[in-house]
Amino acid sequence: MEDSIFTKIVKGEIPCHKVYEDDKTLAFLDIKGTVPGHTLVITKKQVKFLWDLDDEDYSAAMATTKKVANRIREVLNPKLVGVKVMGEGVPHVHVHIIPFNEKEEYNQSPDMSIEPDHEKLADMAKKLAF
Ligand code: 5GP
Repeated sequence: MEDSIFTKIVKGEIPCHKVYEDDKTLAFLDIKGTVPGHTLVITKKQVKFLWDLDDEDYSAAMATTKKVANRIREVLNPKLVGVKVMGEGVPHVHVHIIPFNEKEEYNQSPDMSIEPDHEKLADMAKKLAF
């Protein structure tokens, strides 16, 4: 199987703005995040869909999602933190964690034409990292 873009991030072949890491999962800022703090939780194991993970990796992904969501609540204090799992774009398990105050913010789709602001992303990752 060809390495996904997220496996390349796990291997350190391409950079990311890291928020959290353990032996089974990695969390980093979405490069085209729809709101400040939009974070992706991935499994280090390259599996296409969340629903195809074995129970151990599924539990690890959910446990990391909870930890990161609570970290975002603590640091950014949004009204709500939502999650989305779509898997349309990248064929590697990823849970979107989206802090928001208004429903419209949660419902936004990423604008793929916008160039990421790496300085802002690095600042945010520094705030959220744990
Ligand atoms: P999907 O539609 O598959 O749920 O979303 C894939 C997400 O991965 C998108 O929000 C996109 O911005 C993000 N993404 C794609 N490539 C990269 C990358 O190289 N680095 C980071 N940090 N995020 C990425």
